[in-house]
Amino acid sequence: METEILSIAADEPEESVRQKLSRAGDIIKNGGLVAFPTETVYGLGGDALNSESSRKIYAAKGRPSDNPLIIHIADMERLAGIVKETPENARRLAAAFWPGPLTMIMKKSDIVPVQTTGGLDTVAVRMPNHLLALEFIRAAGGYVAAPSANLSGKPSPTIAKYVIQDMMGRINLILDADGAQIGLESTIVDLTGAVPMILRPGYITQEMLSRVVGEVDMDITLFDCDATASPRAPGMKYRHYAPKGELVLVEGEPEAVLRYINTQTDLHRKNGIKTGVIGTQEQISRYHADSIKNAGSREEPLAAAQQLYTFLREFDDENIAYMYAEAFEGTGIGQAIMNRLLKAAGHKIIQV
Ligand code: AMP
Ligand code: MG
Repeated sequence: METEILSIAADEPEESVRQKLSRAGDIIKNGGLVAFPTETVYGLGGDALNSESSRKIYAAKGRPSDNPLIIHIADMERLAGIVKETPENARRLAAAFWPGPLTMIMKKSDIVPVQTTGGLDTVAVRMPNHLLALEFIRAAGGYVAAPSANLSGKPSPTIAKYVIQDMMGRINLILDADGAQIGLESTIVDLTGAVPMILRPGYITQEMLSRVVGEVDMDITLFDCDATASPRAPGMKYRHYAPKGELVLVEGEPEAVLRYINTQTDLHRKNGIKTGVIGTQEQISRYHADSIKNAGSREEPLAAAQQLYTFLREFDDENIAYMYAEAFEGTGIGQAIMNRLLKAAGHKIIQV
């Protein structure tokens, strides 16, 4: 398949943007696939109400078909069309966080094909906080099913370059525009039980949700390295975000972490093996690895979130065999960063 790339500049005239989005919307309406930017990561969109489109999304990503897609909407009125009922908590959370990086799970209505929901009777819904994405969703008919626009198993793309690398020849169109200010996928909260439960941590934290709806649980299997139970979001059980080389997280006092990582990377260098480090600003200049990624200050973990997937992709581009990352504090967005790092590392974490 020929993949068209349409770039939209930040200062592009309105009429030209409208034309490009209308073209992208028509592709979705005709059963095709379009990658588009959001504030979290690039999405790989298809018509959420067309089972054939969902099948194509799974095929393009090489994604197991029991791993459901998130339906993206642009207008609150559209929610009622795809859910059996809108729980009061959903109304409150939407008022507080939509448009934004929050996905809510509710009972699905009959018009949502089970191909879109991976066979489940629930549906995941989100309204992205990205003007182009919202206009694109409207142009596409209002319901765009979209997982992240990466090949299954790879880090989610936060820049068009990596969408192109993964999806060229597999989808109809790539919209190349600014986005991914957050850099990690949305928080997923399940509203089908008595107490809302976070199935995937993200920028919207447990504390932020609690302020709006009271008690909120967290799917503990997400952080438990020895968990025998499966995570409740089907997608979270798959190996994910993984670089080609081996990634290890190192947790402890900053000085001890630095010493451990430098000892390891020095050893590998002696053997002619290329190494990488993801470290924080506070001690970045003291690392010895071949490729050193500055995740910004420990005090401002959002910078690390924004860059994490790009770092993992760059390590691949640079053929790095062994990578080490400083562990992050498991609070606020640090919790989402740790969740993604643990998955990328296959849960290899060393305490020093
Ligand atoms: P991605 O679009 O790549 O961020 O993946 C979507 C995530 O949402 C996956 O982890 C899915 O398992 C999860 N998800 C989507 N729909 C549901 C649902 N109905 N119930 C639980 N998890 C879901
Ligand atoms: Mg994904």
